[in-house]
Amino acid sequence: MASVRCRRDPCGVICLILTYFSVFYADYVVIQYVLIPAYSGSVWCTLHGSVFNLILLLLLACHSKAVFSDPGMVPLPDTAIDFSDLRSQSSRMSERGCEGWTVCSRCETYRPPRAHHCRVCQRCIRRMDHHCPWINNCVGELNQKYFIQFLFYTGMASLYSMVLVVTAWVWRIRNEREGDADKEGEEVPSKHLIVAHYIILLVESVLFGVFVMVIFYDQLVSIITDETPIEQMRNRLTVIKDRGSSSSSSSASLSLRLPHQLSHTRKPKLALLREVFGRGSIFCWLLPLHSSPPSVSGITYSALPDYDV
Ligand SMILES: [Zn+2]
Ligand SMILES: [Zn+2]
Repeated sequence: MASVRCRRDPCGVICLILTYFSVFYADYVVIQYVLIPAYSGSVWCTLHGSVFNLILLLLLACHSKAVFSDPGMVPLPDTAIDFSDLRSQSSRMSERGCEGWTVCSRCETYRPPRAHHCRVCQRCIRRMDHHCPWINNCVGELNQKYFIQFLFYTGMASLYSMVLVVTAWVWRIRNEREGDADKEGEEVPSKHLIVAHYIILLVESVLFGVFVMVIFYDQLVSIITDETPIEQMRNRLTVIKDRGSSSSSSSASLSLRLPHQLSHTRKPKLALLREVFGRGSIFCWLLPLHSSPPSVSGITYSALPDYDV
């Protein structure tokens, strides 16, 4: 349904293919041109090979979970919403303790607080962070953990392959200097090929490494401040708007609005991290294991609140 719809996004499909290709290329170069020539016959070959492949395996596992997991799509109602009666509906919502729920006019459904509509998925996503083409899916309440784990392992794999390539390159240069006379013309074509692979992998590792580390940092900041990028943008715009209006009118509106907007930042940082990564030990935070979904602002989420639509 909607998950199939988002897989049809051409940009997302290209990014998915690029991700898998980059991972398999990195593994190929590391094994074929780094570990086998530089560490053959040594225990380091097995050790580096095992650790590097374990990181790639975890990277792919987290990526698959982020791609195929439900990011927190708000279910569509069975019956159409009567938009002419919205005013009375919203007053009933408040009465039943569902304050903050809104109606999305695009997918015509009731959505809990902090849910936003994604134009690519064409659905509302609970605590939507952003739509990521690299996982061809939204990053939302239910798959943010897997997305962050994917960033973490991509960063680790990039750093590890950089270290391995640089070490092998230095080893190769030293070797050439020592045994220059023995094999002069023999290795010339493959030598260029090897150096080309080293350069491509280094560029790939630096680009992906820097890219994922920046996003990783942003994700952690958004969790700790309890503000998704959409909410950050909205709050900044509201503050700017309020400053403009307060200079012309009274400042009462600013003082009334700010505490409401910033109220959700008072939770402890560890509690906010646990909401995303689960209540298990920090070791479990590194594994793509399912953690029980959090409730929405204390309300256990169901497909639809019992409104008379
Ligand atoms: Zn929507
Ligand atoms: Zn989306």
